[in-house]
Amino acid sequence: MGIACVTTPIPGPRSKELLARWLEVEADSTGYQAPVVWHRGRGCVVTDVDGNTFLDWTSGVLVANVGHCHPHLVEAVQKATAELINNYECASEYRVVAAERLVAAQPDHMDKCFFLTTGSEAVEAAIRLMKRKTGHFEVIGFYGGFHGRTYAAASIGGLAGPKRGYGPAMPGVIRAPFPYFYRCPFGSKTEQECADKHLEALDDAVRANSCNSLAGVLVEPYQGAAGFIFPPRGYLKRLEAWARDKGMLFAVDEVQSSYGRTGSQWGHAQEGLTPDLMCIGKGIGCGIPVAAIAGRGEVFACLAKGEMSSTVGGNPVSSAAVIAILDIMQRERLSENAARMGPILFERLRQTQEKCPYLGDVRGRGLVMGLEFVKDKKTKEPAPTLIPQIINRCAENGLLVGSVGIFGNVIRVAPPLVITEAEVHESCDVMEKVLLSLESP
Ligand code: PMP
Repeated sequence: MGIACVTTPIPGPRSKELLARWLEVEADSTGYQAPVVWHRGRGCVVTDVDGNTFLDWTSGVLVANVGHCHPHLVEAVQKATAELINNYECASEYRVVAAERLVAAQPDHMDKCFFLTTGSEAVEAAIRLMKRKTGHFEVIGFYGGFHGRTYAAASIGGLAGPKRGYGPAMPGVIRAPFPYFYRCPFGSKTEQECADKHLEALDDAVRANSCNSLAGVLVEPYQGAAGFIFPPRGYLKRLEAWARDKGMLFAVDEVQSSYGRTGSQWGHAQEGLTPDLMCIGKGIGCGIPVAAIAGRGEVFACLAKGEMSSTVGGNPVSSAAVIAILDIMQRERLSENAARMGPILFERLRQTQEKCPYLGDVRGRGLVMGLEFVKDKKTKEPAPTLIPQIINRCAENGLLVGSVGIFGNVIRVAPPLVITEAEVHESCDVMEKVLLSLESP
C-alpha cells in the first residue's frame, strides 16, 4: 500500500462543485492545473476536499521547500499572528532577527537585505537599484527569462506571454539568447560551444542596441518558467566577468532557485558567482508572503531614507516565518536532502526516458528537474498537447505535477525538499506508469 490514495474520479464530487463555483467568481486566468481542490498538506503529501491523497511534485510552485505546513513554521506563524500582524516601516524583534538570520545565511560578501512581499517586487527593486547605483538605464535580460508580471520584471523577461497586449515594454532593456543546449539555435555540438556562441551573441546584442548606458545584468541561475533550462557549467561565471568588465552590476534572480532547491542554499553558489544583488522569494516564506532583495551594503547605500519600503514587507508574521524556515532548513539539512534525493529521482526519470518515445529531455539539479516532451526525439518538435493528459493522469494515480516551458511542453519536477526515498520511488512509479500509457501526440 502506497502513500498516495485516490478513491474518487478526478475531480471528485466536492472538487467538481467547488471548481464550478470558483469559475463563476474569480477570473479564469491561471495556467492549466490538475482539477483537484487542495485541502490539507503535510510534508510531501496533499489531501484534497474529497479525501484523496497525492504525492506532490509542485511544492505549490517551488514554494513549500520545508514541506507543506511544517509544524515548526505553523507554530511560529500562529504565535506571531497572535502578538502583532503589521507595523509597516517600524522594527519588530521578529524583523530584526529575521534580517540578522538572512544576512548570516547570505554569501559572505552580501551584508544587507531588505524585506518585500513578492518575487516580482524583489526583481523591481533589483532593477531600480542597478539603475540608481550606476546612474545608467540599460539592463540586460535573456530570452526565456521569467522574473514576474510587474512592468519592469515583465519587460526584462524573455517570454512574450507576460508582455503581450500591454504596449511597449520598458525602454532600456536589451535581451540576449540564453544557452538552451537541448535546442541550441547555433546547432552547437557541445555545451562549451553553446556557451561560447551565446556569449558572442550577447556581445552582438549590446553592440547593436546599447547607447552606452549599461547598468546591469539580471539572470536566473537556471531558467524556471522557460522549462528548467540549466546553462552550461561555467557560462554564468563568464557572464559575470563580462558584466564586470563593462562596469555593470550583476544581479541573480534566485526567487525559485534558492533555499536548497538545487542542493545548496543559493543556486548561484554552485557556479562560484559573487553577484552584487540577489532577488529572493518563494522558499523564503514557504507560502507566507515574503520576499527580499539582498546585496552589498555599498549598493543599497545609493538610496536615501524613504526610497525603499513595502506596505507589508517585513511584518512580524512574515519575519517569524523567515526565522522558522531558516531553522528548519538548517536543522533538517534540507539542502543536503535535495542533493541526496535529486540524483535518485533523476536516475529514475532517465530510465523512464529510455522507455518513453516522447520524453525528449530530462534535466535538472538537486530537486528541480524538467521533463521536456516532444513528438519525435529526432526532430524535437514540441508536444504541448501531451501536458494536460500527463497532469490529469498523474493526478488520477496520486501524483500532482505542473507544467512550464517556452513551448508549453515541460513537466516540472519540484517536490518539497523533505521528500523521502520511498516517496521518490512511489512518485516515479506513477510517472513511469503514466508516461508508458500516453496516446501519441
Ligand atoms: N522570478 C522568478 C525566477 C520566478 O520564478 C518568479 C515566479 N515564478 C518570479 C520572479 C515572480 O515571483 P512572484 O510571483 O512572487 O512575484
